[in-house]
Amino acid sequence: MILMKFALVNGTKETPSPKKYGLCPFCNAKVISRCGTKKSWHWAHKAKVECDPWWENETEWHRAWKNKFPEHCQERIHKDEKGERHIADVKTDEGWVIEFQHSFIKHEERESRNNFYKKLAWVVNGNRRKRDKAQFFKLIEEQIVISSTPKIYRVYLDDSALLRDWYHSRHPVFFDFGEDNLWCLIPSSEDSWGAMIEVPRALFISFHTRLDPTEEDFNGFLNGLKSIISKYKTRQIEAQQDYVIFPPKYLVYRSRRTHRSRRRL
Ligand SMILES: [Zn+2]
Repeated sequence: MILMKFALVNGTKETPSPKKYGLCPFCNAKVISRCGTKKSWHWAHKAKVECDPWWENETEWHRAWKNKFPEHCQERIHKDEKGERHIADVKTDEGWVIEFQHSFIKHEERESRNNFYKKLAWVVNGNRRKRDKAQFFKLIEEQIVISSTPKIYRVYLDDSALLRDWYHSRHPVFFDFGEDNLWCLIPSSEDSWGAMIEVPRALFISFHTRLDPTEEDFNGFLNGLKSIISKYKTRQIEAQQDYVIFPPKYLVYRSRRTHRSRRRL
């Protein structure tokens, strides 16, 4: 059973309402609305064979994320120059594809998507497996800091089961632990370590909805980070310097820091 948020009803993209039929925008199969009381309403169709093999059924986590973006950007079909098609969870007007990944994804499949989408950001549910979050934050506390403001951490990926799954991703991966800030694994590293930075959830959404066009765009943000890391690697800079990466209003301090300093007393 494939579940989606949108279907075509008389040629128009629609969300489900009780006892309705429509067509899958991807494979044209007949879909039926599922409007129960426990989960968000979906469109359902039977076989995955004919549809997008990459499709991961929506969880409430997916739905909450998608809802942060304009409807026309959600479940958008992306076609490459060879005519291959897939449904992107979100594709922004600036052409960025955002894939929300809840379940485990095999290395080969991850690479296929990394190749297919040229402008891709992954958002990964860090709360799917019980131990990942605690293991991740324990790891972060032990890491070297590459720059002080904002804090960029040098992280040994092998030490976290979650990070190991995302080894050498050439596109940025944002881990969502359900907190105000996401943790971004910055692409660039061919080594056993990766670089990570906390990114306010609101800033990530703002990058991709461009509600404030005066702010720097996502590309500029990523390039800024990559340049810091490449300077660090080629020893052009010393560790722990300050850079301006975020607009000041996003420089928030997380509760975890308070928690940590409290524990040190
Ligand atoms: Zn379909």
